[in-house]
Amino acid sequence: MIANFNTMSKCFNECNKKYFNNSLPMPEFGTLNKLNTIARFEYRKNKGKNKARKPLEYKKIFFSDCYNFKKKDFIDIMAHEMIHYYISWNGIKDWRTHGRKFMEIANELNEKYGLNITKTKDASLFKLTKNAPKVTFKKKKSLFGFLFD
Ligand SMILES: [Zn+2]
Repeated sequence: MIANFNTMSKCFNECNKKYFNNSLPMPEFGTLNKLNTIARFEYRKNKGKNKARKPLEYKKIFFSDCYNFKKKDFIDIMAHEMIHYYISWNGIKDWRTHGRKFMEIANELNEKYGLNITKTKDASLFKLTKNAPKVTFKKKKSLFGFLFD
């Protein structure tokens, strides 16, 4: 699966329903033309009067358009980004990006639903799309285990 608005929004809706009880409003979606970031979640807190009802004024999930993901990986990556979203939307305090709270939720979803949400993914085995910058085999190997935000 190649990331675009349709594949991302469809996967988001399925994950929201299955794993987050439909509690997360639809964010914006975007793509990154990067090999060393497979996905990222960006947000800005809402400091206005309606912040209790709408804690984030900006939220956006990005996927790299350089990879042709297997469906299973696409879901794991989407669920990973949605945990970041869930944590910030609910104002949950965590001590770092992939801290204890993040891993608690990840492990719970992994056990309950057979997902494989991890802090990093080995992207060296992922298929590249035609959007991907040309890389040598050595460079591709060096992508091991470094990849998300
Ligand atoms: Zn992350």
